[in-house]
This record gives sequence, C-alpha cells and structure tokens, in this order.
Amino acid sequence: MDRYARQVVFPGVGEAGQRRLAESRATLVGCGALGTVIANVLARSGVGFLRIVDRDYVELTNLQRQVLFDEQDARDGVPKATAAVEQLQRVNSEIAYEAVVADLGPDNAERLLSDVDLVLDGADNFEVRYVVNDACVKLGKPWVYAAAIASYGVLMPIIPGETACLRCALADPPPAGSVDTCDTAGVLGPTPGIIGNLAAAEGIKLLIGAREQLSRGLTWIDCWYNSFNQTPIELPAPDCPTCQRRRFDFLERPVTSLGATLCGRDAVQVRPPAAVELDLGALAGRLTTIGSVRQGPHLVRLTVPPHELTIFRDGRAIVKGTSDVAVARGLYARYVGV
Ligand SMILES: [Zn+2]
Repeated sequence: MDRYARQVVFPGVGEAGQRRLAESRATLVGCGALGTVIANVLARSGVGFLRIVDRDYVELTNLQRQVLFDEQDARDGVPKATAAVEQLQRVNSEIAYEAVVADLGPDNAERLLSDVDLVLDGADNFEVRYVVNDACVKLGKPWVYAAAIASYGVLMPIIPGETACLRCALADPPPAGSVDTCDTAGVLGPTPGIIGNLAAAEGIKLLIGAREQLSRGLTWIDCWYNSFNQTPIELPAPDCPTCQRRRFDFLERPVTSLGATLCGRDAVQVRPPAAVELDLGALAGRLTTIGSVRQGPHLVRLTVPPHELTIFRDGRAIVKGTSDVAVARGLYARYVGV
C-alpha cells in the first residue's frame, strides 16, 4: 500500500477503495494521445489488470502528445500497445498488463471486453466507439466515452441499464467527412491530457463504486477558448435501439471494411479477409527481393518508395504514403497476399 499512500489518504478512495482498485480489471481501447494519458493514470493508481488494445505503431509526430512514448520507440516503430506496456512496467511492476496489437472490431470486441470491470475509450474514430458501445451494453460493462481534438474534447461515463448510452446521446455515427479530424484540425498538446485525465478520474470512480460522485451526462471542454460545459443526459432515450431495444447493429455488422484511412496520417489500414496468424520470419524472407525489409518481434516493415508497409502478425498492414484505400489494398494484395 505504501506506494499509494497519497491516494489512500484522500477520503474518496481510502484503504477500501485502493483494495477495490487492486482487484479490478480494465480494457483500454486505443493507446494514442488520450489512451496514453488514461493508461498512465490507471497504472500509477494501482488498477489490478490493464489490457491495452491498439492497432498502430509509434511515430515521431506522436511524441508531441502521446506521453508514454519516446524517440527510440519512434525510431524502432514499436507497436503502441507494446511500447506502452514496456514503459508502464517500469512505472508500476506490481500490476498485470496485457498488450494486444489489434484493431478492435465486431470480430474480437466481446472477447477483449467481457472479462474486465471497466472499458476506457482512447479510440480515434467513431466506428470503434459504436462497436464498444454495443459490446458494453450487451455485456453490461460500464465504459467511459472520451474524444479530443484541436483544443476541445468531450467525455461521458456510461453505465448500461442506468445512464444514457452513446447511441442515446448521438443516434448515429457522424457521416465520414463531417467531423474534424487530427488531419484537418490538429491537436493541441494539453487537450488530450485534460480529457484523458478526466476520463481516468471517472474510471477510478466507477471501479471503486463512487457512483454518487460520477459526472452525469456529457462534459465538453475547450482549453483554448476557455469553456467548460456539462449537459445532463440523465436517462436513456426511450427508443434507443441499443440500450432499450437491445439491437447491436455495430457488433453484428460483418467485418467488411477491408481498408480504412487512419486519422492524422497519410496511411491506410488494410485488414485480411479472414483471421490469420502470419509467420513473420517467412514473410520477411519472401519480401527481401521486393524492397528493403526490417523485421521486429511484432511486425515486418517493407519499404518500396514512396510506400511503406508495416505488416503485423494478425495479418493487418498499415500502408504509409497513400490515403487512397484502393491503392493500399492493391499493394497489400501484391506483397502480403493473404
Ligand atoms: Zn442507449
């Protein structure tokens, strides 16, 4: 308990709260700007088990705001989930971690979210959030919705059966191209820090059962233009398809989108048409005749200018140097071909 002395002294937590934290399990979906802030707080606070799911790898442009990564991680292009866990193990070795280098989707969401007490949103796109919302409502897991961009962000704790869910608040994901992305609006460093820390605070309240202190409804903050708004959304929408009619449209949707452009990057993620587990050594061997190849423990990187393909063990590839899904899928079919 010594290392948590200051937190135990705080009356809202106390020894009982600290013990509950130590016994609790959480999954973090996405470990970029928001996710690294959330993971950092939860690990230092002494949550018992932390699973970090992320599909991407570290790049130099991440370091401005993604607090668990350093220049070496960017040079090595380490997967974010792995780099975050390696860093956090140095910070708090007394808790258990699991790094999952994968894209959370309808095919794996229930498996990754069913054995934890809390789910935290560090995602960078709405498609994933609606899958998380479906899975959490279906499984009865509380989760904290959070998003940050430019100088503003939102967060909302969601307790299925008690509070409004994401779909109560926002019936459909905003259509592609209608919202700001990190490409078009950028991200001011403090923004994900503020939103991520508030989301982590709500997460701690949920884990230790401080329900009466929970922030109810949607919190909206802009740290450049100085506004802080709370919109109460106390009750579920009576006609919500997800939490009232228990229709899980996003979870039941087949994984058909084989390519998706990544937020803030000149890159596209391509998923294999069916689940695979690649032999990275054999793949690296095959690709050496095509371009320059680097192999790490978690990925193979093929550079064929102007493109760079980073291929993960689960068959996904991030194709850098294009934002055209068709071009990325073509390169994937040519070089990976699974
Ligand atoms: Zn709902």
